[in-house]
Amino acid sequence: MRLQTLEQLSKNDGLEGSRVLLRLDLNCPVKTDGGGQISVSDDTRIKAALPTIRYLLEKTDKLVVVSHFGRPKGKYDSKFSLAPVAKSLAKHLGPENEVLFVEDSIEEPSFHLTRKATEQVVLLENLRFHPGEKSNNTEFAKAICQGFDFYVNDAFGACHRSHASTVAIPEFMGRGKIAAGKLIEKETSALEPLLRGPEIPYVVAMGGSKVSDKMEVLINVLEKCTHLLIGGAMAYSFLKANGIDVGDSRVEEDKLDLCLRIQEKAQERGVQLILPEDHVVASEFKEDSPAEITAGATIAAGKMGLDIGPKTRTRFKNIIAGAKNVFWNGPMGVFEWDNFAAGSKAVADAMAESSASTVVGGGDSVAVVNKFGLGDKMDHVSTGGGASLEFLEGKVLPGLWVMRDYS
Ligand code: ADP
Ligand code: MG
Repeated sequence: MRLQTLEQLSKNDGLEGSRVLLRLDLNCPVKTDGGGQISVSDDTRIKAALPTIRYLLEKTDKLVVVSHFGRPKGKYDSKFSLAPVAKSLAKHLGPENEVLFVEDSIEEPSFHLTRKATEQVVLLENLRFHPGEKSNNTEFAKAICQGFDFYVNDAFGACHRSHASTVAIPEFMGRGKIAAGKLIEKETSALEPLLRGPEIPYVVAMGGSKVSDKMEVLINVLEKCTHLLIGGAMAYSFLKANGIDVGDSRVEEDKLDLCLRIQEKAQERGVQLILPEDHVVASEFKEDSPAEITAGATIAAGKMGLDIGPKTRTRFKNIIAGAKNVFWNGPMGVFEWDNFAAGSKAVADAMAESSASTVVGGGDSVAVVNKFGLGDKMDHVSTGGGASLEFLEGKVLPGLWVMRDYS
């Protein structure tokens, strides 16, 4: 799907002196210090938004930014205020572009603010403090966007949601007045080739906690990939479905048939589906549980699999080394705990060392790559967890669909 780009918008209509409403995904992880001060702990999403902000600030002198943050219940809740994000954004933009943070965005139409404000960037408080955001309410959308000349969406991570700021606002603004920002362009151009079928060998590594979360992606990637490497907790459902004992490992009993169907489909398509042949196990689901390595794929009663074992790591690394394209979603083990992080690190290292085109998607998978400082070694690290997975499921994301280009 082609999207209306910022360049098209700027060429066709001229953005000079216009009022632009910019939807970003500033839903950043935060931390609270001893004194109760909340600050941004991972500014990846802020950095990812900078190219669009800078492009727009060159063309026009005022910008109103909107975003969601966390999951408040449709009313004000200080835990979910965008105030810490405003501070971090101001730091990134530097003294030449000041940021005004506005707590009440409905009382006074936001375009009035842009006229009065001396700051170039105005950030409105969390959209999800209003119930109309999640219900995609037209009146709420109008209240937010009235008076603006253009709407730009660069919130890739929110494009799988039909919310007021991703769907009702662009619908209300109308064609020719809306465009996708640079992050959305970058995300879609990295993910689209995977959906169409990239050069082979195309290796997909999938892990994470549940088969049920990843079912649709698994089925979709099987159409295109040559190798499907399975790790994480979902591997134990596959092993159990094949009659292999997995002890106390996490298994989704009601998904065993589905695992077998996925395996059949892989066989029909000639895809090599590879399950772990050894594991790192422990007696308890605890950070400091002593780690043991199994001899083979079987896990003894009383033990649970918390990571892929060394033989599996080597096998996965070798397959990744021979790939032309690699997509990875879902940690291979409980990477948050050092005893069980080696499997995820092995996949991240293999991708970092490979000459293949490498794409990582999914909130926790991206956290793994950042934990090991390998983000720069990947061709693309997606900022959209759920959105990138839905994209690879082949679903049309509503927030992208409204910005499609007919020309
Ligand atoms: P992503 O966010 O990248 O899509 P998921 O949310 O599906 O990934 O899965 C990540 C979670 O899966 C992590 O919190 C990790 O600890 C957990 N996990 C991985 N392997 C195991 C395992 N063997 N047992 C229990 N949890 C696991
Ligand atoms: Mg996750």
